[in-house]
Amino acid sequence: MRRHAARTRRGTAGSRRIPGWLSGALVLGAFAALVVAETRRPLRRPVEPKLRRDLRNLAVAALSAATLQVLEKPVVEPLARAVERRRFGLLQWLRLPRWLEVPLAAALMDYTLYLWHVLTHRVPFLWRLHVVHHADLDLSATTALRFHCAEMAVSVPWRAAQVALLGVGPRALSVWQTLLFASILFHHSNLRLPARLERRLVPFIVTPRMHGIHHSVVQAETDSNWSSGLTLWDRLHRTLRLDVPQERVTIGVPAWRDPAAVTLPRLLAMPFARQPPSFVFPAGQRDFGDCASRSEPPLSARRRRSSAGLQRAP
Ligand SMILES: [Zn+2]
Repeated sequence: MRRHAARTRRGTAGSRRIPGWLSGALVLGAFAALVVAETRRPLRRPVEPKLRRDLRNLAVAALSAATLQVLEKPVVEPLARAVERRRFGLLQWLRLPRWLEVPLAAALMDYTLYLWHVLTHRVPFLWRLHVVHHADLDLSATTALRFHCAEMAVSVPWRAAQVALLGVGPRALSVWQTLLFASILFHHSNLRLPARLERRLVPFIVTPRMHGIHHSVVQAETDSNWSSGLTLWDRLHRTLRLDVPQERVTIGVPAWRDPAAVTLPRLLAMPFARQPPSFVFPAGQRDFGDCASRSEPPLSARRRRSSAGLQRAP
């Protein structure tokens, strides 16, 4: 009886999420700071007028946020409580101390999100939805929120499976969600960090220059850097690319380069429209060739000089 009470107490303590106001304030604070910082120290030259593009991205984001509220929240949050109450899933079976369980859960959620991200590129039905995110002609903090609401809807079963199979309780779920938000806002931002700082960060977390390569119009570059938090997963799967100087990256998807093709109504209709081959420009060429400047060295330059072979250069 006493043991049952103790277990219930542990369960109750464990079920406490990060308070909504705290994670909301952290995410909003990070967003506001990045929006200001990226206007002061831009990393890439914008193609579209910033205000118009940001408002369009925020409109797409509002529909996605509503979808998550209606479809994901009522499924995933009760599931996380049930997983913890019934001790279901990998982490619950391991009965780890809380200080270890929460970071391990966040890391495993991050890894399984890497797998989902690969699927959104590899499965044609999912790419139809994910392409809306990639068709942004520029990359900035608002791109991090620009996902088609249908992509959010079809990700709910995956998210539920992550929580149930990994045994992710409410606290770990809210910690991961808050960290993920901060991370995606950061690495989509158009913020020019000192290259030396990015070289120090990129062995651990995804950075703006690294994720910029994933948003390139060149398919071999887009098919890399799928991590959303820790870069460990790209290293494990040998999908990390740091050898492209940012100033050689053109952001977008070749098939959707025309600004008239990426207006708000066209974006919302994009998954249901006829899909041209994504990585072929309408004129037929496969990339922009050598038109971009090469003045910025790739992130991997110093590392390659100091320890040749550490960086994979596909
Ligand atoms: Zn992607």
